[in-house]
Amino acid sequence: MINIPKGTKDVLPEESYKWHYVEGLIRELARTYGWREIRTPTFEHTELFLRGVGETTDIVNKEMYTFEDKGKRSITLKCEGTAGAARAFVENGLENQAQPTKMYYITPVFRYEKPQSGRLREHHQFGVELYGSDSPFAEAEVILTAKTLLNRLGIQELVLHINSIGCPVCRKDYNAALKDYFASRIDRMCPTCKERLNKNPLRILDCKVPECGEVAKDAPSTLDYLCGDCVTHMEKLKSILSGLNIPYVINPRLVRGLDYYTRTVFEFISQSIGAQSTVCGGGRYNNLVEEIGGKPTPAVGFGMGIERLMMVAEAEGASLGMPERPDIYIAPLGEEQIMPAYLLVQELRAKGIAAETDLMGRSLKAQMKYADKIRTNYIAVLGADERASGRIKLRNMNNGIEETIRLEDIAVRLGR
Ligand code: ATP
Ligand code: MG
Repeated sequence: MINIPKGTKDVLPEESYKWHYVEGLIRELARTYGWREIRTPTFEHTELFLRGVGETTDIVNKEMYTFEDKGKRSITLKCEGTAGAARAFVENGLENQAQPTKMYYITPVFRYEKPQSGRLREHHQFGVELYGSDSPFAEAEVILTAKTLLNRLGIQELVLHINSIGCPVCRKDYNAALKDYFASRIDRMCPTCKERLNKNPLRILDCKVPECGEVAKDAPSTLDYLCGDCVTHMEKLKSILSGLNIPYVINPRLVRGLDYYTRTVFEFISQSIGAQSTVCGGGRYNNLVEEIGGKPTPAVGFGMGIERLMMVAEAEGASLGMPERPDIYIAPLGEEQIMPAYLLVQELRAKGIAAETDLMGRSLKAQMKYADKIRTNYIAVLGADERASGRIKLRNMNNGIEETIRLEDIAVRLGR
């Protein structure tokens, strides 16, 4: 038989309710926080990710699913959500509308990674993007959205890490300091970092190779190189977070895996799962829109891994909604009742009741067993007597209580 590709997962019918639950929370949260959904294609021109995400990042270097289509165009499966959203923002002239623009998405993301717990080749992200505001309140809006969702899911053990990686003005001095620091130590580092040294030394700080991490420990801190404006921005954000009672830690090692960030970067890191513990990562990216051909537009956003989110929630004992159950199972008693039972079920369904009946030609006893297995809330047997009298006995499967009611009252009795 043909197996599922490595690093991908099936969501089976008995667990899909968890996804509905999480997506339902996200959509309700988006409604109250004013995020409107954007849906962009599952693939884009490779060029968009090269320019948007950056050629010295892990994603572009090693993880993209890139192929040539039949028209000889280089195409890449969505490897993150921000670049596509930014392209759509520019291409559709959303930059000419009243700002800010607040968009969210729930999307599959494809990365050729080494599969392990919390690391898939196809995962899903909930992301938000806020365009047009340079105010630290934009960061607050984005961070608060993530935080509120995490709280609503019942996740407690999360720490918000924040950092500022400066702007193009102060990044120059910082990059020079990093180059100086790493140049004398580069022999001990991985080949990718050797390449990064000249192209983008900041990326070295995000390297997952343990030896590189060891060397990076004592590297200069971005916070010592921020220009006046970047310091002010960071201080304002800190005071807003304090005003909102949102605890955070300053983590000068946090640089995040994509090139487009400026100033604020942040992550929510879980204490309750092992290595792959970052549930949500984001930050400000004031240069991306211009980079891909739009007007200079400040922006902030985050991406949150839904599989990891669910892992953390369950590790902390939160339940993700309830499995779906039929309201009622109508069991026909004898062959001549199959059609009447089927008609009754259609009538109930039309009134919004989740109703099931026999599709297998089972005996009554086998039907009872089956109805129990699918955890129906009520069960009722439809025989010649019931049809003659127009009355039927409902059995509540949760407490065993039985009551006889008129056939036409079933829907009302079940709350519809
Ligand atoms: P990491 O440092 O773990 O590789 P990243 O910096 O590549 O993460 P982002 O690109 O910021 O991650 O993606 C946002 C979120 O998406 C992550 O915080 C994580 O929750 C989730 N995520 C990223 N890659 C994967 C993956 N391969 N499998 C499952 N979830 C993922
Ligand atoms: Mg990664």
